Amino acid sequence: MNDKAPLLQLSGVVKEYPASPQPLRVLRGIDFTLNAGECAAIWGPSGCGKSTLLNVMGTLDAPEAGTARIRGTDTSDMDTAELARVRNQELGFVFQLHHLLPQCTAIENVVIPAMVHEKRDTAQERALALLERVGLGERAHHRPGALSGGERQRVAVARALINEPAVLLADEPTGALNEEAATELADLLAEVQRERAMAIVIVTHARELAERFAPIYALHGGRLERQD
Ligand code: ADP
Ligand code: MG
Repeated sequence: MNDKAPLLQLSGVVKEYPASPQPLRVLRGIDFTLNAGECAAIWGPSGCGKSTLLNVMGTLDAPEAGTARIRGTDTSDMDTAELARVRNQELGFVFQLHHLLPQCTAIENVVIPAMVHEKRDTAQERALALLERVGLGERAHHRPGALSGGERQRVAVARALINEPAVLLADEPTGALNEEAATELADLLAEVQRERAMAIVIVTHARELAERFAPIYALHGGRLERQD
């Protein structure tokens, strides 16, 4: 890991899915750089490859060609243990659907990513503080089924922050919310990004959301075009 290198850097990234008669080439040469503390919004219509791109940035998927680097290290040179460490400690993920464990309470869901390297009691304290930060201190012992859509996404944000990631990767984080809850969640994401001087990449088809996390990169024809 190189402290001088960009936090995330994609060079010439090509990503295909198997299909017949020929593979579906979704990403066709993506170049993208994100430094510590920066925002970026990846914007484009449904099906243009936004989730595919975020998954490559987040090491959840590997490109067919080109490189994805995190702090200067090519992710294809990382072994499984190193990839797991990077995902757990450098990256925070928020998806369109919260992916909380339904049988666990809010605080248990938030604590889980910290349990890999931290004792339960200190992690619990930090989890509660984060739930308070996202406005859910009173709901810490509720299960996801007892929370609204907006509240579940707030728990997902707290879970993504528990290991103090260098970058938050958010895939249509407001996509399943009503307008009011969507605005509240966007406000929260913008606030925590500033408070923590954390980088954030938001992937969305919603122009208003993208504008809050400018610069906006339009994903079109498998390539990114920065819009200033
Ligand atoms: P977006 O997030 O912008 O809606 P995706 O990255 O999910 O777009 O998908 C881009 C394209 O790749 C779409 O045409 C989609 O159908 C296709 N696709 C996504 N995931 C897979 C997969 N696992 N296998 C095959 N095709 C896929
Ligand atoms: Mg998507």
